[in-house]
Amino acid sequence: MNNILLYIGIDDTDSSSGMCTTYITCVIISKLKDCGFNIKGYPLLIRLNPFARFKTRGNGATSFKLELNSLIEVDKVKKIVLENVQELSMLEDDKTNPGVVFYHGDITSELQEFAFEAIRDIVSIEQAENLLNKVGADYIKFKNGRGIIGALAAITCPLDDKTYELLSYRIPENYGAPRRINHESVFEMDKITYPETFDNVDQGYIAIEPHTPCPVLYGIRGENPEILNKAKSIVKVSEPIERSCVFLTNQHTDIHLQMVERIADMEKFKCYIVEGKVKDKPHVIEGGHLIFTLKDGSGEIECAAYEPTKKFRDFVREIKPDDILKVYGGIGEGIDNKGTLNIEKFELLKLAKHVKFVNPICKCGKRMKSAGTGKGYKCPNCGEIVRNGKKVSINLSRNIKEGFYEAPASARRHLSKPIVRIK
Ligand SMILES: [Zn+2]
Repeated sequence: MNNILLYIGIDDTDSSSGMCTTYITCVIISKLKDCGFNIKGYPLLIRLNPFARFKTRGNGATSFKLELNSLIEVDKVKKIVLENVQELSMLEDDKTNPGVVFYHGDITSELQEFAFEAIRDIVSIEQAENLLNKVGADYIKFKNGRGIIGALAAITCPLDDKTYELLSYRIPENYGAPRRINHESVFEMDKITYPETFDNVDQGYIAIEPHTPCPVLYGIRGENPEILNKAKSIVKVSEPIERSCVFLTNQHTDIHLQMVERIADMEKFKCYIVEGKVKDKPHVIEGGHLIFTLKDGSGEIECAAYEPTKKFRDFVREIKPDDILKVYGGIGEGIDNKGTLNIEKFELLKLAKHVKFVNPICKCGKRMKSAGTGKGYKCPNCGEIVRNGKKVSINLSRNIKEGFYEAPASARRHLSKPIVRIK
């Protein structure tokens, strides 16, 4: 018989408390290898809509594919996968509702479209289930089975642009304890491998280290597996690494963003690239968030650089009315639930001229003074009077240039494309 190409998608929907889908996937892959099965290519780590209501911590799901020779092998693989998801998931946690999808067949445009919906919109369990039944996929829901949404999207997501992430995991005894990563070696690694790796460090702070009690010791993001393995060899840690795995991902590709022509067409909980004109001067609100309004012919939207974006706000503060911007970001609840665009990055397309009107200069070189309302100007130096003089405009210098500005690595979404990847 012909070989069977079996796709396996897993979304553990883990909460912040413990396991993560990538870890479960790594364990499953190594158990499959122990049984003589080899996965084809790299496993995928696919991040979904950052605004999905029931999202998991990083809102990520995984998939991988195997070439199998018989239906007996297919059954054996399914058994190993399900046993391990059952065993390793924190099923007692309310929010953990894993889903596993087994599929063999073509990844049709309808299936790809589903992945885009899961990344850019909100998808229901029912929608996923209908499609799974339609294409004849085998799927297993644990508890409410919300994970089938991510599990299917992880199989069908097209990757026109892609990055890789190398994840190293701790031994279980160390979960929750401070991570023992040599910070100097991370700076060294960044110096040697950036920009082929990125988001390693952020203003003296180590960005490869998670801040949750999850099994991940560190994650290094980069353009290809080779540079990640090189980076791993440079980073020194003083605790055991249980295992490491490289995932092919949709992270840092801006796949969550849709181009939108009119501000009026933007909807809450979706992410966009939108061009507009700045309406007002950015102002700080309680909590240190910086807010301004962007407008076009169709309407306007409030834009925010939130407090965690730290120094990014220094750039946003320099924006002035009439500047033309292209803003990248998603619309969250925002202030008073009216929907606020959370700026991930922006391109300052055209700086508005900022002028100040001042009194004219006299023939003698001194700036003149007003001689009284409607009476023109008088020179305080030589006494010259200009009855019909007019104020003159001078251009004020701006403290910002046209170009791209982005939130720092520490505040960046998994899906946001760093500027270093745009050029
Ligand atoms: Zn004068």
